[in-house]
Amino acid sequence: MHDDREWDAALTRFDATSQPLALTFEGVDRAAHHRMDEAWLAAAWSHPSTRVFVVSGGQVLVEDGPDGRTSLVMTPAFDAPETETHRYFLGIDPDGVRYFALQKDTLPGRMDEEARPAGLREVGGLLSPLEAGLMVHAVALENWQRMHRFCSRCGERTVIAAAGHIRRCPACGAEHYPRTDPAVIMLVTDDKDRALLGRQVHWPEGRFSTLAGFVEPGESIEQSVRREVLEEAGVVIGDVEYVASQPWPFPSSLMLGFNAQATSSEITVDGEEIHEARWFSRDDLRAAFESGEVLPPFGISIAARLIELWYGKPLPRPGTA
Ligand SMILES: [Zn+2]
Repeated sequence: MHDDREWDAALTRFDATSQPLALTFEGVDRAAHHRMDEAWLAAAWSHPSTRVFVVSGGQVLVEDGPDGRTSLVMTPAFDAPETETHRYFLGIDPDGVRYFALQKDTLPGRMDEEARPAGLREVGGLLSPLEAGLMVHAVALENWQRMHRFCSRCGERTVIAAAGHIRRCPACGAEHYPRTDPAVIMLVTDDKDRALLGRQVHWPEGRFSTLAGFVEPGESIEQSVRREVLEEAGVVIGDVEYVASQPWPFPSSLMLGFNAQATSSEITVDGEEIHEARWFSRDDLRAAFESGEVLPPFGISIAARLIELWYGKPLPRPGTA
């Protein structure tokens, strides 16, 4: 939809705050100081303007409106199914609306059958930024809650506290906080300004994207960028420049996006994580996308943004000029 001039202007304006990535909406005040205040939470829960949605297995209910827009199915608390649930307080929007998510084992049925279950990968880019931000918060909490039911210090079963943001151990008193795993993701370029893209072993033929990997204990993120690129593609990295970050709760990652400058160009893939890696000029990439030889990266991911920032405009899609 953009012409080149619009896109150039957008790029000039780009920074991590003026051009937010999908899933990074900042318009809801998380109001963490209310999480331990049971009286406040009870009043907020029962307020008629409060909105509640159910999260189960990373999915929520969404519906498509007559205008074609997809929205999160939210109800007042008195319509919400509350039995055997965990209740997460997510925050307050600028109009004073309080938001909660309920973690349940299954999504509730809907009489009108208009609603459908959906995950973040499917609808993270379709929902309004506010709804996508609420969903990513709830899904991240749910993933952590489901996988951390027992105390990592003594093994006792833990209980939920702080409106979903702490698990407390009744035996040893330990408090466990939601876990976020830092991962680096980098657009590597060489001295000819070509981009290094790789195909992971389990990806389908033709799917190429930026290299990425988890930060290891005792490592800075810059060290992590250099180590991952060397391990996966055999390429040596010099300068590393931070671009932006994105929560990626599959199950608990925080993607830290970088531009990385290669000081070598010979590629040796590890064959374990990366099956194939190639240097692409912009012309190479355009031709490969248009012919369908290379599939574009997943639309809402920071990988797509990093590649687009290098490419200079939105990535071409198969069959487009
Ligand atoms: Zn314990």
